[in-house]
Amino acid sequence: MLGTDAGHPHHWKKKMARRRQIYEGKAKILYEGPEPGTLVQYFKDDATAFNNKKKGVIAGKGVINNRISEYLMTRLSDIGVPTHFVRRLNMREQLVREVEIIPVEVVVRNIVAGSLAVRLGMDEGTPLPRSIVEYYYKSPDADKPLVTEEHITAFGWASPQDLDDIVPMALRVNDFLSGLFLGIGLRLVDVRLEFGRLWEDEHMRIVLADEISPDNCRLWDIKTNEKMDKDRFRQGLGNVEEAYQEVARRLGILPESGPRDLPGPKAVQ
Ligand code: UDP
Repeated sequence: MLGTDAGHPHHWKKKMARRRQIYEGKAKILYEGPEPGTLVQYFKDDATAFNNKKKGVIAGKGVINNRISEYLMTRLSDIGVPTHFVRRLNMREQLVREVEIIPVEVVVRNIVAGSLAVRLGMDEGTPLPRSIVEYYYKSPDADKPLVTEEHITAFGWASPQDLDDIVPMALRVNDFLSGLFLGIGLRLVDVRLEFGRLWEDEHMRIVLADEISPDNCRLWDIKTNEKMDKDRFRQGLGNVEEAYQEVARRLGILPESGPRDLPGPKAVQ
């Protein structure tokens, strides 16, 4: 295909006319959406860990995470959690509302794992006495430092009122997802959430943004304690694709044809 179709000027022009790239992250690309105030989130297969020090590809991850995130955002919306999600467009893309992303990652933890195990010198798998909320500043110049509400409000990354919306929402999302995953034999160890400001006329509200997938939560099998998330990639445990597929399968959303990257239907309006 390269050198023939792909290089054809009409093909190129058509593609370029379709949408303008706004931002490229590690696992996703954001394009201008079909209407003002919307964006298209494109899910890549690229995976990074340890703040970009480990890079790789998880075949079919983008297709699966697009589905998983669609499913979870929809279920959350069903219980009244406001989200930026509008609808899935095709295998790798979803339409979302354009929001002003709050530069703070909110992590809710139920069980000790990852950086918390290291920081506190505790064993992975130790249950926490209650769910714990942590914040990491998405600094352009540092490796996402752990910060407190004091830093967040002092530097104006979010206001105290924003946090009054964010914290209960994060805990509610965590409770709901914990139950949902428990029902399919998975323990939600921790989850990382992002929030954004959605402007409607003069009014602003905080909504859940980004994605929820095995890329940004930890899921352990109830019976075997097997890791079913990005830790398989981080720790080189193998069967990464299979773990993501298994999560989708248990949620009942594995595409019929498997995670092959078919062109799929074009953005149906
Ligand atoms: N996480 C994430 N992006 C990051 C760092 C962490 O999505 O840049 C998620 C991670 O997958 C886990 C949770 O946040 O579900 C808590 O991660 P932790 O602080 O333990 O850091 P890690 O061990 O992943 O570096």
